[in-house]
Amino acid sequence: MGHFADIILPTAVRHPFTYAVRESLVERIRPGLRVWIPFQKHKAIGMVVKVHQNEPDFKTRSVEKIMDEQPVLSDELLELTEWIHRFYYCGWGEVVQAALPVGLNFYAEKYLKATKVEPDNKFSEKQREILEEIGQKESYTLKEARKRWGEEGRSQPLKKLIDEGYLEVWEEPEMKMKPATRKLWKWKGSAESKTVANLIEAHREEGHDYKWIQALELLQELGLPEFQDNLLTFDLLDYYTLNRIADEGLIQAEEVEHSDITLKFEHDPSQLTKLNREQEQAFEAMRRPLDEGKYQSFLLYGVTGSGKTEVYIHALKRALEEGRGGLVLVPEIGLTPQIVERFYRIFGDDIAVLHSRLTDRERYDAWHALRQGEKRIAIGARSAVFAPVQNLGLIVVDEEHDASYKQEDPAPRYNARDVAVMRATMNNAVVVMGSATPSLVALQATRKGKSTLLSLTERPLEAKLPKVKVLDLKQYRSAMSGPLAIPLYEAVKEGLKREEQAILLYNRRGYASFLHCGNCGDIPECPNCSVSLTYHKAKRQLRCHYCGYAGRIPRQCSSCGHDDFEAIGSGTQQLEEQIEELFPEARLLRMDFDTTAGRGSHAHLLNKFARKEADILVGTQMVGKGLDFQDVTVVGVINADTELAFPSFRSGERMFQLLSQVAGRSGRAVKEGRVYFQTWQSDHHVIEAAKKHDYRSFARRELGYRKSLSYPPYSRIIRFIFKGQRERKVQQVAEIFTSGLVELLEFDDVLGPSPATILRMQRYYRWESMAKIDPGKGAGAIERLLDRAFALFEEKKPEGASAVRINVNVDALE
Ligand code: ADP
Ligand code: ZN
Repeated sequence: MGHFADIILPTAVRHPFTYAVRESLVERIRPGLRVWIPFQKHKAIGMVVKVHQNEPDFKTRSVEKIMDEQPVLSDELLELTEWIHRFYYCGWGEVVQAALPVGLNFYAEKYLKATKVEPDNKFSEKQREILEEIGQKESYTLKEARKRWGEEGRSQPLKKLIDEGYLEVWEEPEMKMKPATRKLWKWKGSAESKTVANLIEAHREEGHDYKWIQALELLQELGLPEFQDNLLTFDLLDYYTLNRIADEGLIQAEEVEHSDITLKFEHDPSQLTKLNREQEQAFEAMRRPLDEGKYQSFLLYGVTGSGKTEVYIHALKRALEEGRGGLVLVPEIGLTPQIVERFYRIFGDDIAVLHSRLTDRERYDAWHALRQGEKRIAIGARSAVFAPVQNLGLIVVDEEHDASYKQEDPAPRYNARDVAVMRATMNNAVVVMGSATPSLVALQATRKGKSTLLSLTERPLEAKLPKVKVLDLKQYRSAMSGPLAIPLYEAVKEGLKREEQAILLYNRRGYASFLHCGNCGDIPECPNCSVSLTYHKAKRQLRCHYCGYAGRIPRQCSSCGHDDFEAIGSGTQQLEEQIEELFPEARLLRMDFDTTAGRGSHAHLLNKFARKEADILVGTQMVGKGLDFQDVTVVGVINADTELAFPSFRSGERMFQLLSQVAGRSGRAVKEGRVYFQTWQSDHHVIEAAKKHDYRSFARRELGYRKSLSYPPYSRIIRFIFKGQRERKVQQVAEIFTSGLVELLEFDDVLGPSPATILRMQRYYRWESMAKIDPGKGAGAIERLLDRAFALFEEKKPEGASAVRINVNVDALE
């Protein structure tokens, strides 16, 4: 009788493929091992998920080679990834790919090799450069080459060299991991910021605006020394430009040993904080299931600064004493040295930190140390939920409401918070979700008895929550200083005089533009869905991207009767300029998507601000998170209600979280802090609740609204995105697929299809639709529904449907 293995590939295909296993491999083959297999016309890396002896009724091909000694995924993680693949309706292999560190490639790396040699004059200068560089190196990955020389378009020199056979592409299953050294760029010799500034100035005066000068200016702003991989994440900085600047004799690079997995903080477990009564009660509640080795889920609701982190630390210590491991998840932006330092002080080298600045090698080393049980605690952002912690006893999800836990694109579109709960169940572990502004989904779980609510109601030290002043823009319309109402303007000015710092937040989730009434600020809403309408400028239409409603711009504002609607969409850069004019003497720092594109640049800007190298920090919602500055006494939110314009049922929740987080930023220090919300809707219940730091009244109102329209937590949302290059085809597929859903569900439960908020993105047209599913339906209901929907679509699909991609997002956040 033959032996067979079911094998998954890192693609969206939802079923495994069956391969035969040769006699010589039978002994070794096991689930969790990677294997090298023939696939279509290529070779591919797959992972074994099952070994069996049921001969399929088709002709099988054979596994060529087993790539690992030990399974790279334990049974536990294999089971978890399978659950994700079913729950979030994606390829199992896609999940495995997300779960493995890059060093353990789950795809064959493609390398380039220079093959034919031809007389130089056959090639362009660029092509000669490419051939030379690649010829010099033993292995050059296609990925590196593409990053460096681009790939788009036929005329691209790289593509041409490959097409014409001067460069050969070959696949290699074994990983070639980069050593743990990194290139560090420094100023060279006498070059330092002053000389550089003069140089830039001189070029500017002569009217030169070369790219390398702009890049130089950026380097000066970022400050050197800095690692090359951090620098390369900025658009302006690429290998060529860095080398160009080096040729000017201004900077130089050096290879340095670098390992972030060995931390350099103080380790002193005796510094464990003594818990206060509320904290003690929370800890006691967790201790019972920890000691008994039972699954239990907790929601730790505690105002900002109430000491949640101390509770996590005590619980982790307990888990370790029981011989179990721990996992701490923090939001992407929350993984700061300060938080790591607090854990390190108590747990020392038991901790592996999984952050985005690790090199592949470091990530692999951290992963390996956890796998071997050499380290027992992992701390990291979203994907750390897959960390191979041994004998897991406790999972902490800090700031559980944070949207960065949900991966939106690409698949797997999982929410690490919910995966954490599942992983805790599978391991008989305790899971603690903490937040000052719990998501309504987490709150509802406590009401349904699925999770236990624990509260920390006060700050342990003297610190008080700051006073918030609401500035009604209707009232201050004629008393503005640029974008600031007079009281906020005065407060910033006074603060500057006392050499204190200010943070101004300009909320801009404004890729969707919208209209508001220039008189009262009212934003037109969809008559069916109670979400804001999006303004489509070209057609002068207002559209609902939930149900597809399209209407003309109303003559009059439905709330005040005036007739001057304004389109909104200015950005932080403009705001920065206006603030600069208002406070010419102040040093400004801007933090938004553009200025933080580089890895680590977020922390970099924050450090600069912390060192008091700037007086005012202007930024988007990013500035609301992870800030703890002693000298910030004024926090102003320029447009507190813009969030409401975002066409999502969650906009009220988001706004409350944002405002509460920002407000919670000040008042930790000795100096008294002031917070200002500028708003058009001063009587909006979210503004009122945030002003009073009143989560409960916010939640009560918001849950009522969710219930009446059956939005989560009273339903689960599946969002479908249809993408393709021909709009008519996209629309047709969207309509046919959605009508299938309507057939399967009751009519009310399906919204759409409608054009996406941004209809055309990167040359793809996008339509979307949404289904609301009763959350009471058992596990597996969604998978069965989607199986049937896709089967139905298969029967009815139009010609050319394969050119339209259908993305499924289960539990979509918006
Ligand atoms: P959260 O995680 O809820 O924002 P933290 O754990 O960061 O709160 O605590 C806020 C501050 O209060 C920290 O400086 C922390 O060291 C301090 N703190 C927390 N618990 C206690 C306690 N029981 N006694 C003294 N200080 C405490
Ligand atoms: Zn609608």
